[in-house]
Amino acid sequence: MTVQNGLLMPAVRPRLPLAQRQLPQFERALVERGLELRRGATTTLQVNVGKLCNQACHHCHVEAGPLRTEIMSDEVASRIVEIVERSPGIATVDFTGGAPELNPHFTWLVDEVRRLGRHVIDRCNLTVLFEPGKEHLAEFLAEREVEIIASMPCYSERNVEEQRGHGVFAKSIAGLRRLNALGYGTDGPRTLNLVYNPNGAFLPPSQVPLEARYKAELAANFQVTFDRLFTITNLPIARYADYLDSQGLFDQYMSLLVTHFNPQAVTGVMCRSLISVGWDGTLYDCDFNQMLDIPLKSARSIFELASVDLEGEGIATGAHCFGCTAGAGSSCGGSIL
Ligand code: SF4
Ligand code: SF4
Repeated sequence: MTVQNGLLMPAVRPRLPLAQRQLPQFERALVERGLELRRGATTTLQVNVGKLCNQACHHCHVEAGPLRTEIMSDEVASRIVEIVERSPGIATVDFTGGAPELNPHFTWLVDEVRRLGRHVIDRCNLTVLFEPGKEHLAEFLAEREVEIIASMPCYSERNVEEQRGHGVFAKSIAGLRRLNALGYGTDGPRTLNLVYNPNGAFLPPSQVPLEARYKAELAANFQVTFDRLFTITNLPIARYADYLDSQGLFDQYMSLLVTHFNPQAVTGVMCRSLISVGWDGTLYDCDFNQMLDIPLKSARSIFELASVDLEGEGIATGAHCFGCTAGAGSSCGGSIL
């Protein structure tokens, strides 16, 4: 680890690209079970507005951080609004990053998408609510009833700070309290969901009992409430692949994913109903393919996209897809089964 701008930054090591490793074949696993992965109706546009983030977490599959300069331009942002306007099937626009709120067009994008009557998700790291210039961000999100999905890998300080850096736990709790005071996570129209992901080379535990435990611990110790907990499997890419490599655990983790392959989870993987848009407008089947630079098969860019009607089209898969289909399965909305 190195320290930059007071933040723990994972050391950058040369990494063997996934394509050059001897990896188990996801396509073969599907064929052996008589399965095929194809797109259904697209209902969610997931928009990655850039890699800039005020944090630099160990597990970050985006490799986001305070020094990243990739950020969505106003031209791409305007095109996104255009596509949403002409696509009534898109019910939800899901903003992610980096910290999406650090993109200068974020509030404009949220307002435009809400004007079109679509649901908005903000994947918020909580600490961004306390960044200089973001003092009114929480009120802005509350007024527009934006759903917040916030990373909270544990209810204990030690586990959160191991993964997300020193001082993050206290700020996250302060952020949750602030959101609760604005009506978030209190059974009203302001939805606050938390995300758990393992802080080691193992699969997430069962979502329902873990949610009950989180609710009990956060209420008892910090008087914090929330709606749902999503358990998400770490995919062996980017910083998480570095972590596995550094511990000599990459092959072991891949084998864990493969031996837990669950064919039932295939029907619920998020790429069947979602298109992911990169900061530069490139299109992907999901955020993970985006990080691996595996574009959508039918259109490379949002400027080429005539319609989001891609039903029946094939999905670009790879060994990382075992991460979405292991055990109870995993998606941006938590466990699949
Ligand atoms: S807060 Fe999220 S986007 Fe930022 S570094 Fe952490 S995991 Fe990555
Ligand atoms: S990694 Fe992406 S393409 Fe692969 S199964 Fe998961 S969502 Fe689908």
